[in-house]
Amino acid sequence: METLQHRFVEFIPEVLDEGILYITMEYRTAVHMCVCGCGNEVITPFSPTDWHLRFYGDSVSIYPSIGSWSFKCRSHYWITRNRIEHAESWNDREVQQGRDADKMNKKSFYDEKSQEPKFEKPGTKLNRKTKKWSLKSFFSFLGFK
Ligand SMILES: [Zn+2]
Repeated sequence: METLQHRFVEFIPEVLDEGILYITMEYRTAVHMCVCGCGNEVITPFSPTDWHLRFYGDSVSIYPSIGSWSFKCRSHYWITRNRIEHAESWNDREVQQGRDADKMNKKSFYDEKSQEPKFEKPGTKLNRKTKKWSLKSFFSFLGFK
């Protein structure tokens, strides 16, 4: 299996087909069967500190690479424009280093956020702005009812 077909779904089906990368925007997650054929489900949540999805219209890429260290197969590969690019398997020390780096990355990302008391979700900001500058409030600002 050297390619995966992406499929946008609302819900991840109970039974997965091999060779399909199921993507749900609702849950910001992708799921696929490990490409080695071991039958394990590989779950890749999308977040600033987890995986990123790049959609090209006809294919997708997922960054960074996928390392199934908790499976026996210890598969490690990239999904680049629906193509599987096999990468070197890591030894235990490398896996631990990767996990530590991930932890640090997550920690600093969320620490930075919490150090900004004025941080607002973009949605909140947009709502407020819309409300503030709606036509109605603009006219009432000018004295019209
Ligand atoms: Zn596998």
